[in-house]
Amino acid sequence: MTLKTFMAATAVAATLNAMATEKSDFNYVVDRFADIEVLRYQVPDFENLSLNQKQLVYHLTEAALAGRDILWDQNGKYNLAIRRLIENIYRNYDGDRNSADFKALEKYLKQIWFANGIHHHYSMDKFIPEFSTQFLVEQIFKLPADQRPADVPTTQTLISVITDPTVMAKRVNQAEGQDLIVTSACNLYEGVTQPEVEAYYAALKDTTDLTPISYGLNTRLVKDAAGNLVEQVYKVGGLYSAAIERIVSELTKARQFAENDAQANIIDKLIEYYTTGELKTFDDYSIAWVEDNDSRVDFINGFIESYGDPLGMTGSWESIVNFKDLEASHRTEAISAEAQWFEDRSPVDPRFRKPHVKGVSAKVITAAILAGDAYPATPIGINLPNANWIRAAHGSKSVTLENITRAYDEASHGNGFNEEFVIDQPTRDLLDKYLFITDNLHTDLHECLGHGSGQLLPGVDPDALKAHGSTLEETRADLFALYYLADPKLIEIGVLDNPEAYKAEYYKYMLNGLMTQLMRIEPGKDVEEAHMRNRKLIAEWVYEHGRDNNVVEMVKIDGKTFVKINDYEALRQLFGQLLGEIQRIKSEGDYEAGRDLVEKYAVKVDPTLHREVLDRYAKLDIAPYKGFVNPVYTLVTDDNGNVTDVTISYTEDYIPQMLRYSADYSTLR
Ligand code: ZN
Repeated sequence: MTLKTFMAATAVAATLNAMATEKSDFNYVVDRFADIEVLRYQVPDFENLSLNQKQLVYHLTEAALAGRDILWDQNGKYNLAIRRLIENIYRNYDGDRNSADFKALEKYLKQIWFANGIHHHYSMDKFIPEFSTQFLVEQIFKLPADQRPADVPTTQTLISVITDPTVMAKRVNQAEGQDLIVTSACNLYEGVTQPEVEAYYAALKDTTDLTPISYGLNTRLVKDAAGNLVEQVYKVGGLYSAAIERIVSELTKARQFAENDAQANIIDKLIEYYTTGELKTFDDYSIAWVEDNDSRVDFINGFIESYGDPLGMTGSWESIVNFKDLEASHRTEAISAEAQWFEDRSPVDPRFRKPHVKGVSAKVITAAILAGDAYPATPIGINLPNANWIRAAHGSKSVTLENITRAYDEASHGNGFNEEFVIDQPTRDLLDKYLFITDNLHTDLHECLGHGSGQLLPGVDPDALKAHGSTLEETRADLFALYYLADPKLIEIGVLDNPEAYKAEYYKYMLNGLMTQLMRIEPGKDVEEAHMRNRKLIAEWVYEHGRDNNVVEMVKIDGKTFVKINDYEALRQLFGQLLGEIQRIKSEGDYEAGRDLVEKYAVKVDPTLHREVLDRYAKLDIAPYKGFVNPVYTLVTDDNGNVTDVTISYTEDYIPQMLRYSADYSTLR
């Protein structure tokens, strides 16, 4: 599972780590086009890794980049051909590079690079190019013969896929009542219908198996000449062999620099899995991976998340290489170590508390490379593995990518958001000083303790809250985090240094829940997404219940609406009170009470306030989606060819990086 976020929309912008002593002059913003802003991130402490660790990271990053074409092809069967065609035109073009058609072609190329294909990475809708079809046709015929598509029918197909909005309109279709396989443009199935796919996997699954493999995770399901369904396995000698062979080759090099036997074993298992395609081996690998908490360097490389499959079976290829942020991980360790202390004092009925609570193992990491489905758009938190039985029996690893969250924060500094939406200068100063650290602490408390706290009464069905279950579960975890964020315990265990710091997160949370998250909702629509509903539920509930005592106000200044918090301590008590009620609903499985809270506070939008927020936000011109270019790693060798160092540089821009990746890591045809 990944925790995706769009910081421009969800977080108050200008934030700096309270611990940071000076403001960095690192240039975070790389490019801006369509609805996208491309940033770069720093990899602090890379220089301080040992030479062995640096070489381990280096070869793992090469293994990450080697898989790029796999994801492109999974996302759509014409994606690689279209990428090559548009890149060839882009490089060969000898006309006016400022003409409208060429500018439109460049924008289209930037969009498909960002999305790893011709469909938007978030909405899944196909990009509609702004250049004319005639321009495209002319440019194709101007290309050198060896850079054109193979033949006329192929050329016609590509032109139609690029320019006709009705062809392959959506990558992943989730509309109820339609055949989700037939109507989705992703390339995970061919010539099969949804009922056929469902029947195929239903026949394979053994419902008595307590340790089932993740069926279909690494295969494309097709119909053979005889009309039988066949899985084409992603492996050496199978589908995507050329890319996977190169991944395996780099993993083999990386293995020489493994930090310990456990890590060498993890790499061996992964190589074995890529070589055989056996999902049982992938489970063995996942177990070894989740149990390794000692290695500093860590990585994900494989077919992981299944959001790209309308039926949630096949994993999209991705890789992230990272190493533990030792300093920041003290924070999650300090919190996890006190899990029982927090549980025993939680403001809920004692019957609903866990007598023995186990803190989740969580660490803060520094990303060294983002690849496949994690590039350029990337998650800020990851919790793996996904197999439920492995999570139950062996636990899961929860990580926060803090150099990524820092880049989001620093890049948004000065974008005008706080000046527009935060009520006054003292509050803006408070956010500047403490929002980064309290926002991260909020996430830590939510992930390490919030979800794991509390217990159901005997006999209560864990699914009793049905469709509202995930909203109420996120509400519970958020409230646990909000309540304890203001606790002196955090000062005592050394993760905060100022008893007022929590007010930064409280202000931002209320502002977001009452107002600013509405900028992600289209006019006239309800709030639907679970996290957005949970934030609205909490903010609206405490606003209403604190009204008699004037705890939180909505005030008008020069015709604009602002959130004003008058009594932070009372606000904390309201968070605690609501936590007590949400925990009761969960522990007792009180579906009606849960549904009533969601319907009353979490769904409906005040159209006047909504319009105001949209108008004020539009003036700021903040890109709704962000992603990253990677740094460049270079091996340094002496006269004898021995590696003496690995250097890192942050100078490569978006277009050069994408063209270089297409030239150097183009493994598939
Ligand atoms: Zn959560």
